[in-house]
Amino acid sequence: MPADQSIHVLTDVVANKIAAGEVVERPASVLKELIENALDAAATQIEINLVCGGRTLVAVADNGHGMSRDDALLSVERHATSKIRDLPDLERIGTLGFRGEALAAISSVARFRLCTRRAADLMGVELIMAGGKIQEVRDAGCPSGTSVEVRHLFFNVPARRKFLRSEQTELAHLRQVFMTYALAHPAVGFKLTIDSRLVESLAPGATFEERRRDLFSFLAPADLRAVNYTSGGLRVTGQVALPALSRADRTEQYFFINGRPTSAPLVSAAVREGYHTLLPRDRYPIVFLFLELDPALVDVNVHPTKREVRFYSPGAVRETVITAIRQALALDGAFVPQTVRPLPGKMPPADDALRGAALSAGFPSLALPGVFPYPAPRGTSPSRPAPSAGAPQPGAPVAPPGKSEGPAATASSQLAASAPWAWCRILGQIGNLYVVLETEDGLALMDPHAAHERVLYERFMAQLRQGRIESQGLLVPETVDLPPQDALVVRRHLELLKRLGFGLAEFGGDTFVVDALPICFQNAAARTLLADMAAILATVGERRSAANLLEEQVAQAACRAAVKAHATLRSEEIEELVRQLAGTEMPYTCPHGRPTLIHTSFQELAKKFGRV
Ligand code: ADP
Ligand code: MG
Repeated sequence: MPADQSIHVLTDVVANKIAAGEVVERPASVLKELIENALDAAATQIEINLVCGGRTLVAVADNGHGMSRDDALLSVERHATSKIRDLPDLERIGTLGFRGEALAAISSVARFRLCTRRAADLMGVELIMAGGKIQEVRDAGCPSGTSVEVRHLFFNVPARRKFLRSEQTELAHLRQVFMTYALAHPAVGFKLTIDSRLVESLAPGATFEERRRDLFSFLAPADLRAVNYTSGGLRVTGQVALPALSRADRTEQYFFINGRPTSAPLVSAAVREGYHTLLPRDRYPIVFLFLELDPALVDVNVHPTKREVRFYSPGAVRETVITAIRQALALDGAFVPQTVRPLPGKMPPADDALRGAALSAGFPSLALPGVFPYPAPRGTSPSRPAPSAGAPQPGAPVAPPGKSEGPAATASSQLAASAPWAWCRILGQIGNLYVVLETEDGLALMDPHAAHERVLYERFMAQLRQGRIESQGLLVPETVDLPPQDALVVRRHLELLKRLGFGLAEFGGDTFVVDALPICFQNAAARTLLADMAAILATVGERRSAANLLEEQVAQAACRAAVKAHATLRSEEIEELVRQLAGTEMPYTCPHGRPTLIHTSFQELAKKFGRV
């Protein structure tokens, strides 16, 4: 503490440096503020130049409206802004900046150069500062717009400099900022130069989809679902990726609220909830979500970095986002009812009994030999099923009516157009496991085990929701001995299990009699099913709410009851499964979040074969 202990007001230089601690954390924060300023200045072209992970240089040049000489001098003062005037403005912020502290903060912890000219002015102005002090102001001939160079960040704050990470890490943060803003503003052209190399050049006037494709070329259109939902004054648009493309972290989650990139935890939680059973707990979906609402209903002035926002009605926002996601992914209620028609000439007549069993539930133990002698794909046009000549044959397309013409249509059954594929042809099963499908835009591999899990899960959940679980009596009731621990939980949850369709009675000791099973699982062995339920009940315990508990159990049980991973399937079984999967609400993953389908588009194939 200084010897003189009286209170005194800090000089601007010191105050700015303190404030800089909040606004400027690393080179990426500088880039963020400068891009925001350029966007607020209505720039249509923004050029970014980075050297040495931003330590040596972060520069942003724009063709926006520029500043007068006086404004340029004011812009580096603290609390100097052209964006708001008084309190009511703070309630409805339409610009990215408004706090008027970024330039003051940045210029206080770096070597700073600003050049700016308004289109109507003949001369521009150049302002040079270091550590918050103006060193030079002079007329300058410069293009209209503004360019800001920030060199040697934290040169006067050694403590901060120490916290900077490796060049690669800082660069990753810088790139993330670049991606975020470039994505949020497809109408604006962006150029990114790193260490004198032009690494990104994005044309102005793009649509979101074009910009997204430029920046995320690894995401094929087939991997994404469009989001478009409005409720109670909140509009949610954008794209979400299928669960199979999930990641271990949140870095590919982009949220924009009224055009402002933000990391609203409320929104990411709602997204999670939207994906719900589609993803394991530790996986995060790739999403690009734009939320638009009345600026008066969201508070962006929560944190100096403006990265966080607060909603005035968080509950409604949450609900809307969840619905938007579920609608995009699950296409709630968008599936047309399916009529399953056997493909003529395909069915071995003697198999009817077996087939019936396969149709009604799982096909756990049908291990029939063989790979199907399906013909090789016809024609060269991958995008449309070629009508087959003559009688439909094995491998004929499964298509929604109207989509294919000619004889193939005879063989087609109804499949929802909004299903994972509008049309598909089953090519066979490989490795005694995976089912290979040709779809309208590529190739899909289906894990029948996971697919069957999904089908059973949804069927069971639907029954549960409607409060009518169908139960099927066993021809021969089974007695099941359980280990004491398991017996204990089963006894405790006897009523619950009965409600779920288990015909279950105590038989003395740790033995139970099972005389009925939920119809979805009737092909499973009573013993394993009950043991599974016990194990789940024991681990899930009382930790969760009843609804969650139930769902979890059901998912687990469905998993076990589902077709065994290595059962070879007959063609009819596969077909049925494909049809059933297409009819589910969330066809892309099993209830545990594992993918049911892996899709490779013709485009990706063409890329791999060097055809494009
Ligand atoms: P804020 O953006 O919160 O207003 P800043 O410190 O980032 O605060 O900028 C201060 C002011 O300087 C802005 O309000 C704006 O008037 C002006 N300014 C900053 N950058 C630019 C730019 N690139 N083009 C035109 N004006 C700018
Ligand atoms: Mg600003």
